[in-house]
Amino acid sequence: MQAAVYSGIGSIECREVEKPVIGNNEALIKVKAAAICGTDLRIFKSGHFAIKEGEERIMCHEFSGEICELGSDVKTYKTGMRVSVASNVGCGVCRYCRMGSLHLCPEYIALGISIDGGFAQYFKLPQKALLQGNMIPFDEGTSFEEAALAEPLSCCYNAYKSVGTVPGDNVLIVGAGPMGVLHLQVNKLAGAGKIMMADVSEPRLKLIEKYGPDVVINTAKEDLIEAVMNNTGGKGADVVITACPAPDIQQQSIELTAKLGRINLFGGLPKGKEYVPLNTNLIHYNGIIVTGTTGSSLAHHEAALGLITSKQVDTKSLISKRFKLSQIKEAFEYAMSGEGMKTLIEF
Ligand SMILES: [Zn+2]
Ligand SMILES: [Zn+2]
Repeated sequence: MQAAVYSGIGSIECREVEKPVIGNNEALIKVKAAAICGTDLRIFKSGHFAIKEGEERIMCHEFSGEICELGSDVKTYKTGMRVSVASNVGCGVCRYCRMGSLHLCPEYIALGISIDGGFAQYFKLPQKALLQGNMIPFDEGTSFEEAALAEPLSCCYNAYKSVGTVPGDNVLIVGAGPMGVLHLQVNKLAGAGKIMMADVSEPRLKLIEKYGPDVVINTAKEDLIEAVMNNTGGKGADVVITACPAPDIQQQSIELTAKLGRINLFGGLPKGKEYVPLNTNLIHYNGIIVTGTTGSSLAHHEAALGLITSKQVDTKSLISKRFKLSQIKEAFEYAMSGEGMKTLIEF
């Protein structure tokens, strides 16, 4: 089969590899749509601790496809089913797995990172993932490309659950990339009062206008704290989501949050920049809750796919360019340019 193989920093190519062979409790999925994530780009640029020197990996954890082969012991699925694949696999027996947070399992396996993922014609879903329920069926009313974006949406859904946006909340989302747009849509559904989107890039702020933010703030030109205060009658935002890897935004988030507000530190910070001085008195006296989330559980993935299949969240319009698997290098270049939103590999 054809697969895009990553073989070290800066090196990815489409070539012929062996088609995976499945065991009794495994499934083979014919991949139909696979999206490039910022994580894939980070691995491409600087590697990953889960991929050892000299090791090769088929990346991609945002994909969907059709079941084309099932192991003899699998009774709960049928070939031909259209499925979205959740990308985190837990050990199943630790405290976090028991709590349903398998994405926080110390032994967790990430599809497309620790083992092969979806940038290939076929993908083998390992036994542990199959028995855990990582393959979630959806019907013909939803396209494969829409369903491929259930994974990033599930991460935003996780963030939303942590801040618990309620009707009327003024919400600030910093970072107008694809994740920012998904946060925007989820918070709109939750009944947010005013949604403010901030970014340093004017083209990005233009791109997201169609999703209907109430306020856009260009942080290259405007002072973020001042803009938020002006738009909230001096109270600050009830919910702040930092969907960007910027320490200064995390620092400012405390200062622009309203009393009893909730902050989600969604974007991780680059190594060496993770210590951020915060005015903790504001957290203390204003009763601010600071949360952080990463990845998603199966429950988040299930919810995200439900939002897509019920047409409440639009993932389709986020796809700004489509490439063939053989064009993987061009696809990565385009994704790294930051020109568009989501880059999709179609099969
Ligand atoms: Zn991702
Ligand atoms: Zn575990």
